[in-house]
Amino acid sequence: MDFHQLEYWQQRAQALKIENRLFINGRYLPAAEGETFSVQNPATVEELVPMARGSHIDIDLAVKAAREVFERGNWSQASPSKRKATLFKLASLMEEHSEQLALLETLDTGKPIRHSLRDDIPGAIRCIRWYAEAIDKIYGEIAPTGHDALALIQREPIGVVGAIVPWNFPLLLACWKLGPALAAGNSVVLKPSEKSPLTAVYLGALAQQAGLPDGVLNIIPGFGHDAGKALALHDDVDALAFTGSTQVAKQLMMYAGESNMKRVWLEAGGKSANIIFADCPDLDKAAQGAAAGIFYNQGQVCIAGTRLLVEESIQQAFLQALRKHAADFVPGNPLDPQTLMGTLIDQQHCEKVTSYIEQGLSQGASLFLDGRTHPQGGHHGYLGPTILTQVDNAMSLARDEIFGPVLAVTTFNGEQQALALANDSEYGLGAAVWTRDLSRAHRMARQLKAGTVFVNNYNDGDMTVPFGGYKQSGNGRDKSLHALDKFTELKTTWISLE
Ligand code: NAD
Repeated sequence: MDFHQLEYWQQRAQALKIENRLFINGRYLPAAEGETFSVQNPATVEELVPMARGSHIDIDLAVKAAREVFERGNWSQASPSKRKATLFKLASLMEEHSEQLALLETLDTGKPIRHSLRDDIPGAIRCIRWYAEAIDKIYGEIAPTGHDALALIQREPIGVVGAIVPWNFPLLLACWKLGPALAAGNSVVLKPSEKSPLTAVYLGALAQQAGLPDGVLNIIPGFGHDAGKALALHDDVDALAFTGSTQVAKQLMMYAGESNMKRVWLEAGGKSANIIFADCPDLDKAAQGAAAGIFYNQGQVCIAGTRLLVEESIQQAFLQALRKHAADFVPGNPLDPQTLMGTLIDQQHCEKVTSYIEQGLSQGASLFLDGRTHPQGGHHGYLGPTILTQVDNAMSLARDEIFGPVLAVTTFNGEQQALALANDSEYGLGAAVWTRDLSRAHRMARQLKAGTVFVNNYNDGDMTVPFGGYKQSGNGRDKSLHALDKFTELKTTWISLE
């Protein structure tokens, strides 16, 4: 039996012993107040483990540990090559444990095991390695002053970073923060989502084994309004690195203002437009890209192409091709390596997503493909690909981040109308343009108000490119060397030579 078979994963799942405590100052501990919360498998609605529920007391302990080690300097002042070696070791350990991590991710979120194995976990490992590799190649600057002065410009770690992350790519998005934050020499208190804490908690032991000094990485599972809020309001946290909804992002900005004006970096929601021009080079490829762009990860992707803008003359042909590719996404057992579509994160979220379908229909949209017809459609988080046409940009289907496998289709005529529709959104995370006209592609890319514009693809990218949003999709950028801006302060040292 091997990892291509359902039985392999079922047996591994049965044999699992899941770590369910907080990780503070290099040790696993129960919550100070002894409380727990239930972590469930969305595909079975069974409890996987009661998890220690961190509160403001645990956050306080974690921040203290993080501060102490930061000031002691055995990580913050370690040479970049030493930090690189430790993070390389962490990445190798993650690789050794990648099947375990993938299994935990799938049990915790309902995402297909093949995606956890192929995308989430390797992506997280690549990220840690990328920043480890980069950090001893970053030089300071000397400013072009007059002859009587020498001005050095250097980057220093910022201090204690509070990282707050969501449930859609739990380990990957945690590592998008941890990679640059740790490589730069910071200490981190990580609060994973209450809906998906398992891989983050597991990471603590690997960090310990890799030789990360105690206190440099602390992991506090718990609720947003409780542990998350305490971290965001903490006066000894220097920066918040957040990924999650726009609504919570706004709260974090307020918490920073109410407390110590910590830096607040926000990767928030999206409602990205995927624009298909009649001259797109390959209609079938565009339809395949559009299907993956919305249905991958059950539609729970911040940059998902949730608004399909299709030029009127090709609407019918495009929708037929789209239906064919949507058929690849049949909801199934997330532990089955053949499954391409798992379950949504929980029943409550599934109900919210289906309510958007009903709302859209009542506002005048038409159902082209109904994901609720799956045998368990709408239950236990199972929902198939859903496509609604005749969507007006004023409808909630086009304005709100639904965060499920629901595609809103709107038609347009010509570049100007496409641009106006695409930019008519409070979000600005991504956009895509499918056209064979290179000048049009560049014109559109320049004018689309989005952090990333894809041309003739949806969702390509790697660690070398920054990721983040315009408008209410956030500020700052994850990935690439630009992410280091979030986790460092610029220090100028002005030396008089007179
Ligand atoms: P969420 O905003 O509800 O929660 C995100 C995190 O914030 C969780 O850890 C949660 O516990 C915590 N939180 C909640 N309330 C808090 C509070 N008052 N104070 C401090 N922390 C609090 O988001 P979610 O439902 O977990 O994730 C889905 C959202 O994440 C979507 O909006 C999606 O677009 C967004 N997202 C954005 C990106 C990006 O890079 N831009 C990537 C992935 C997901």
